[in-house]
Amino acid sequence: MPSAISPSKTLNVAIIGSGLGGLSAAIALRRQGHLVTLYERYDFANEVGASLSVASNGSRFLEQWGVNIPAVKPVVLKKLIMHDWKTGEVKSEYGLGDYKARFGTEYFNFHRIDMHNVLMDTVREESSEELGPRGSIVTNHKALNVDHETGLITFENGNTAMADLIIAADGIRSLTRERIGITPSVESSESCCYRCIISSSRLHDLGLSEFVLNNGIEFWGGFGIDKIVMSACHDGETISCYCFFPASHNDLSKDGWNIGATPEELAATYPDLDPRVITLFLHASDIKMWRLYIHQPYPYWTKGRVGLLGDAAHPMLPDQSQGFCMALEDAGALGFIFSEEFRDVWGEDVSKGLELYEKVRKERASKVQAASARARTDLSERIGWSSASDRPGKLTIEEVCGYDMLAHIRKLVSKSV
Ligand SMILES: Cc1cc2nc3c(=O)[nH]c(=O)nc-3n(C[C@H](O)[C@H](O)[C@H](O)COP(=O)(O)OP(=O)(O)OC[C@H]3O[C@@H](n4cnc5c(N)ncnc54)[C@H](O)[C@@H]3O)c2cc1C
Repeated sequence: MPSAISPSKTLNVAIIGSGLGGLSAAIALRRQGHLVTLYERYDFANEVGASLSVASNGSRFLEQWGVNIPAVKPVVLKKLIMHDWKTGEVKSEYGLGDYKARFGTEYFNFHRIDMHNVLMDTVREESSEELGPRGSIVTNHKALNVDHETGLITFENGNTAMADLIIAADGIRSLTRERIGITPSVESSESCCYRCIISSSRLHDLGLSEFVLNNGIEFWGGFGIDKIVMSACHDGETISCYCFFPASHNDLSKDGWNIGATPEELAATYPDLDPRVITLFLHASDIKMWRLYIHQPYPYWTKGRVGLLGDAAHPMLPDQSQGFCMALEDAGALGFIFSEEFRDVWGEDVSKGLELYEKVRKERASKVQAASARARTDLSERIGWSSASDRPGKLTIEEVCGYDMLAHIRKLVSKSV
């Protein structure tokens, strides 16, 4: 690991947005000795959703940063299971084998809210030599403008802040992205998604214990638009489902990620699905609809003192379960680059560090973004189900999970001198 930089060289870092990506960047940068402040438009009541699978390319950073993973109540994933749509019969299984021995860390499944809480605690943990200076989180501060040359941020409430380095982690609808001159090319996906949860005790009562005990991600469909993705999180106490269906099925005027639906509406979307899953749907709670969008890669990610991160930089469809993992990689790259080892790159001018960040991250994240879009209607494109041999260019589990970012950065830097 690159060592933290000397106190006289610490940067004053502002991170706009304290979702999972912004919090991760704060942890990575404080560990290098930088003074980090997160600015969040809301007061945190907004983290929603269900399970979040984190492959080793993301969980490796959580471990390196000393995040208390047991406190995030993980389920360790052991296999991917494909079911027949109508009967539920298991058609095939992809065992992850000794995943940890191959890739260094486990393939975890978490609940998003557990993850958000633990990352916030890690940002605010007391200063120490290992963790760096305590980060602060300032809520009810919606950033309206950034000056990429001076580092001035202007907030809706009239306050301003100055920073040496500004990380825009303000999500798929990033305003900062617009402010640095990027207009996204976006189209609506032909898919929509319901998410819902149910407790494991309820599933036992319903005679569906098999869905609690599998330690895997279970799929129904996935070749075409209809697809159900089920997995356990929160120490196995919560089972979560993502349920994809044609966007044309719904009233297209609805948008957002918090549109409620009834169990009956959810069940009626899939008339011929495995009756066990329909039973689960009829007893599920927190059913919400999610509209999905396809963003083409942006022409650039950084300008002057400002760099984009997470969904602000590379929003992707959820079909590779890699959106948060890519945000963790972005944060990991910032932590490596803005360390003592690479201070010659950015010591006089932070924009040079951000240029290196874009070089490390944009090509890889864009590849995962494209592979996520392909996996939308073709499950064989999803890592795990994909194999290197059947089509060149397919994303493989080795490529995603076995990536050595530090070696990549060192190679890029040595080439440029
Ligand atoms: C259905 C679904 C399932 C998914 N499953 C997985 C999975 O299994 N594994 C995985 O790796 N990824 C998954 N993802 C992707 C993952 O959830 C996202 O990529 C990740 O949460 C993005 O985090 P972020 O911090 O970049 O953005 P966000 O979570 O959107 O956070 C942005 C933050 O910025 C704040 N903000 C916005 N504008 C401003 C402003 N102007 N000023 C101040 N604050 C602002 C917002 O309030 C918010 O807190 C899934 C996504 C979906 C839709």
